[in-house]
Amino acid sequence: MDQLPEDLTTAPAHPVSAVLALGSNLGDSQQILHDAVEALRAHAQVHVTAVSPLAKTAPVGGPAQPDFLNQVVLIDTTLAPYELLELAQKLEQAAARVRDIRWGPRTLDVDIITYDEVVSDHPVLTLPHPRAQQRAFVLTPWAWADSEATLNGVPVTQLAAQADDAATVQQVSTRQEGTP
Ligand code: ATP
Ligand code: CA
Ligand code: CA
Repeated sequence: MDQLPEDLTTAPAHPVSAVLALGSNLGDSQQILHDAVEALRAHAQVHVTAVSPLAKTAPVGGPAQPDFLNQVVLIDTTLAPYELLELAQKLEQAAARVRDIRWGPRTLDVDIITYDEVVSDHPVLTLPHPRAQQRAFVLTPWAWADSEATLNGVPVTQLAAQADDAATVQQVSTRQEGTP
């Protein structure tokens, strides 16, 4: 692979904030998302600052497939952007994600929506995530977790309301701890 630009591989001297979007529509999605958030909480270089309520959303793009559960996790981290992508992919592998059909069903998808103020057009890690701006399944749970959030200078609440899939996003109550 071509060498990645330095701003994607340089770890910050102090923790910076990042926004992760998690999605699942295969397997026990609620458990899978729960486990992914716990793995983030357990990581020495990640501090989870907010976890959104779960959103049930209709799939966008790809083949006909089950609804998704989506969740947005706000973190502070000392991982470099590319290290955070590697962690995201490790979480996907832990959920036994199989990559076959583009935008197809998956046990776990972890996208980096923003990383500090980093802007990247590199295909391996594009920041902010190039399709987040029009995805209510990302924007709405993000706004639930942080009502003041902005993306590319625009309030996330406003982008969420404008997104084509806005009406498909529903907040779901979390299964009680300890129930099967
Ligand atoms: P989409 O990117 O439209 O949400 P997807 O999540 O289904 O689609 P994947 O197959 O999970 O796509 O990822 C394809 C590639 O996207 C990954 O291998 C990764 O290197 C790259 N990528 C680029 N920018 C990002 C980002 N901000 N977050 C996560 N992956 C990214
Ligand atoms: Ca995605
Ligand atoms: Ca992805």
